[in-house]
Amino acid sequence: MNVECHEVMESLRIDADIPRVQWTGLNAAWPAVQGFRMDRAPCKNKVCLAKVPHGAGFTLCYICTTFKDAKGRLPTSAEVSRLMSEGQKLEAARAKAGPNPPFGDCGRREDFFPVRHLMHHLAPGVLLCGACIMQLKTHGVMHTPEEKAKLVRVSALISRRRAEEVLCDNCAVPESSHLTRQHFYNTETGQVLCSACDSYRHFSPPQQRRFLRKIKTILLLIKSFELLC
Ligand SMILES: [Zn+2]
Ligand SMILES: [Zn+2]
Ligand SMILES: [Zn+2]
Repeated sequence: MNVECHEVMESLRIDADIPRVQWTGLNAAWPAVQGFRMDRAPCKNKVCLAKVPHGAGFTLCYICTTFKDAKGRLPTSAEVSRLMSEGQKLEAARAKAGPNPPFGDCGRREDFFPVRHLMHHLAPGVLLCGACIMQLKTHGVMHTPEEKAKLVRVSALISRRRAEEVLCDNCAVPESSHLTRQHFYNTETGQVLCSACDSYRHFSPPQQRRFLRKIKTILLLIKSFELLC
């Protein structure tokens, strides 16, 4: 028999957290329903966050059982985390964080995103959203408090859009108006601005004066047009 083949199957079984069967014979298969939809209890080793299948006669997870068989004692939490696969670590972090947890870096909650949170090796045990994972991949460090605040405000704008008409904080033009494009969050002012108000802020003082003159001329033209009619 091919030894590597057995090793691959064994590591797949461990990663999927399927218990090793204790009997010999043909009925040693774990069908998907039996193997993956089982109600699972926490491992009896207090420092371990892995789960154990109910009703299979196990109280310790595979990692703790194998460790105890070899060393005669239970593994410490550092030993457990060293022996866990990436998938198991992620599952343990999710179990520890509870339902709809905030992301470790930016603090935004999981239900805001269409996908579940993940982990990055630079922040072990911390659940992260896509933007925070990208931040770690690109810069190797977490977001600064200012960057976090910006992410949170941008998310708040996206959530508001789903629930209500968003108005410009400066001129109150609604986002649905044909006079403007999509509003955005301006980090400098901490306001949600329409594109006109936002670009006005970026003008230099002479540009702002020219812009105001142009607006005044347009208003005058509109007025005189109204007078003529
Ligand atoms: Zn365990
Ligand atoms: Zn995040
Ligand atoms: Zn505006």
